[in-house]
Amino acid sequence: MAGLALSRAQAQDIEKVSQAQHDKSMTDPGPENKGLSDISPNGFVPPPTDHGEAPEFWNSFSIAHRRIQPGGWTRQVTVEDFPISKDIAGVNMRLTAGGIRELHWHEAAEWALMLSGKARLTALDYEQRAYVKDVVQGDLWFFPPGVPHSIQGLEPDGCEFLLVFDNGNFSEGNTTLLTDWLRHVPREVLAKNWGVPDQALNDLYTVPAEGLFIFQKGVPGPLADDQHAVAGDKGLTPVAFDFPMHSMDPTFKTKSGEVRIVDSRNFPVTTISMAHVIVKPGGLRELHWHPNANEWQYYLEGTGRMTVFFTAAKARTMDFNPGDVGYVPQTFGHYIENTGDKDLIFIEMFKDVRYHDLSLSTWVTHAPEQLITDHLRITPETLHAIPRGGSTVVPS
Ligand code: MN
Ligand code: MN
Repeated sequence: MAGLALSRAQAQDIEKVSQAQHDKSMTDPGPENKGLSDISPNGFVPPPTDHGEAPEFWNSFSIAHRRIQPGGWTRQVTVEDFPISKDIAGVNMRLTAGGIRELHWHEAAEWALMLSGKARLTALDYEQRAYVKDVVQGDLWFFPPGVPHSIQGLEPDGCEFLLVFDNGNFSEGNTTLLTDWLRHVPREVLAKNWGVPDQALNDLYTVPAEGLFIFQKGVPGPLADDQHAVAGDKGLTPVAFDFPMHSMDPTFKTKSGEVRIVDSRNFPVTTISMAHVIVKPGGLRELHWHPNANEWQYYLEGTGRMTVFFTAAKARTMDFNPGDVGYVPQTFGHYIENTGDKDLIFIEMFKDVRYHDLSLSTWVTHAPEQLITDHLRITPETLHAIPRGGSTVVPS
């Protein structure tokens, strides 16, 4: 039956015909939102390996409403906008120099990355000791549930930062604001609570009914003065609510990139873990999965694509750009490939005190050889060529 076997040339002819048919079939007379289809070429023209009805795992702060007030703005991606992310919500906020994010707290834990500029943080720990600290680009902070805090932009140009909360239902519009709360306590009760005359509180009751939230004031004085003023007889808190990620050595480094992992092992206060990943042009964050938590991603620089495999033949590929948010359900296999000519930089966030990932390469090189070659239909030589180490970012 040798006549049925296709020569290599014949197979390539068939490939050409089917490619021509495919090109014809995927034409799109429109209407089309070119801005959106152009930013995700892999979403618009999926690789042939994509298949099935995968849930949406792309979103972007760039399409979110910005609540702009004197002093800055905020925007968010919560479960309302991004249904797949039930356990993590993100907020992106900008404060001008002197702009204040009002003193407040919330039930969710708050993890943050400073994206640019400089800010002053204040807080009170669970033992009621004060914290005041200035943070710069590349710093992280973490405030546990109920810890009251504020953020104020400093000179010369305020700041911008990303907040990650361990609850997809979190909203910046539903936090306990100092002025919102007190504005809704009977004046004579608040006067009695503090032992001050009612009239001394008149101006407090003129703030907007929903509180100040973000407002413009002058920049604060030297940090040391604020620290001295708030220490009181309890002293300042020994709790490190901030972490200088910008001065941390990479946890993993290859010729194709760097990964920095920050979790409760090096940042004890946090219950949210992070991997900060740099993938150089031509590099690939290797095929892997996370056994312990869902992954919420934020893209900082460059362009990349990710395919998420949702089991049962369902897979989808999307492109990611700065300001975008991605998501991978717990245990689902994925990779992230740099598709541009500049570094791709993103963070992977997890609602867990510890970061864990499992590498496809490490798995298949640490199982009985016959078992793996029987599954993958590859030769032992090919199996031996696979990196045994699990390189995180490849080629290594
Ligand atoms: Mn907060
Ligand atoms: Mn991952």
